[in-house]
Amino acid sequence: MNMHAGNEVAFRDEIADFCKKNLDPEVRRLSDLGLPVGEAALLEWQTKLVARGWGAPSWEEKWGGSGWDMRTLFIFEEEMAAHGAPLVGTFNIKMIGPILQAHGTPEQQAHYLPKALSFEHAWCQGYSEPGAGSDLASLQTRAERDGDDYIVNGTKIWTSGGHLANHMFCLVRTSREGRRQAGISFLLIDLETPGISQRPVHHFYGAHVFNQFFFDNVRVPVANRVGKENAGWDIAKSLLEHERLFSARHTEARRKLGRLERLSKDVRIHGRPAIEDPQFRDDLAKRKIELRALENATMRALERLVDDGGIGPFASVLKLRGIEVNQRLDRAIVQLLGPDALPAQAAWEDGALNAFVPDEARNAAESRYWWRGPAIAGGSQEVQRSIITKHILNL
Ligand SMILES: Cc1cc2nc3c(=O)[nH]c(=O)nc-3n(C[C@H](O)[C@H](O)[C@H](O)COP(=O)(O)OP(=O)(O)OC[C@H]3O[C@@H](n4cnc5c(N)ncnc54)[C@H](O)[C@@H]3O)c2cc1C
Repeated sequence: MNMHAGNEVAFRDEIADFCKKNLDPEVRRLSDLGLPVGEAALLEWQTKLVARGWGAPSWEEKWGGSGWDMRTLFIFEEEMAAHGAPLVGTFNIKMIGPILQAHGTPEQQAHYLPKALSFEHAWCQGYSEPGAGSDLASLQTRAERDGDDYIVNGTKIWTSGGHLANHMFCLVRTSREGRRQAGISFLLIDLETPGISQRPVHHFYGAHVFNQFFFDNVRVPVANRVGKENAGWDIAKSLLEHERLFSARHTEARRKLGRLERLSKDVRIHGRPAIEDPQFRDDLAKRKIELRALENATMRALERLVDDGGIGPFASVLKLRGIEVNQRLDRAIVQLLGPDALPAQAAWEDGALNAFVPDEARNAAESRYWWRGPAIAGGSQEVQRSIITKHILNL
């Protein structure tokens, strides 16, 4: 199906109806508050989406995709977020799936894509290293040929969700000749392979999201290389474009705006609901305009993806702006709540706070802390500014 003005309303209603019938109210409540919903709930939701043909809408139809145009995809994501659906499978659906469809061998596609769709495989991203972040091309993890295998040695860090994953797509050094970028390959690694160990790396506020992986003489079949040897850099870059497009996170910003609006009816400023305060209303209007502009820019980028086959450095504009819009909404929520934003997750768990603090306050400060992270992930805001000045402004 592709979207015409006439059936847009019907399509939105269909999504709303699907969410109403299939989404557990507790999962919806947690998603609306930006809280993790848990692996079991994500798997259950993805299974329902796959059964409905909506598990990986952006993929090619033969692999379970929808065949929708970009506008329809955009509406789908917008409507899902508006009805409290959790974000599922970023690494599986938005990263490795598109890469394998574009660059994988038929064997790799047939083996990995169905398992990525069903979540039998859970993927994580092995790009960064202790000495290679913004300057990713300086990565040192090496893969040396030994017959039909590579022997991998080195370490990867900041691996989000690595402790929940069973597969990693990984950048490795296969040559030290010529330009640094020209000696990198893209490998698919089964994390059960002997020689791999992992340790947690905790967020500054305690959450376990990140991991460090160590590879000690790990044998990876050459058949697990995506693309040609030493040609992994272009694949890595196209995946980063997908990551940055996703990093605009307009759907999450829309949920935050909804939360801010709901809170503004409960929380009082000078004895009146905040929504009646002129200064608050002025700030709220600014946040709404920024978000609408971000949504329009994301839509334009998706159209460009269709017309030109890529969005190039425009992805950096989206990431830069999307993070700012999200962070401003988080800040507005915390400012409105004042001290009620502060209780940590653990303080909620015994239920003692519920009588004093609105439920919508839950996780407000944590969300603000968490959103420091996406400003660095996938290339920091400073790095995005450099890309924009160099490739868009030609400075
Ligand atoms: C929430 C989160 C999730 C992540 N998930 C993953 C993951 O799943 N897999 C993965 O591989 N990696 C992941 N990362 C790592 C991420 O890609 C790196 O943190 C990022 O690329 C920055 O690298 P670095 O941490 O080494 O910082 P550095 O590169 O050392 O940068 C330090 C500071 O210097 C600035 N800087 C560096 N170079 C320049 C420059 N040329 N011009 C201007 N300023 C510069 C940076 O902006 C930054 O402020 C994640 C990071 C975060 C925060």
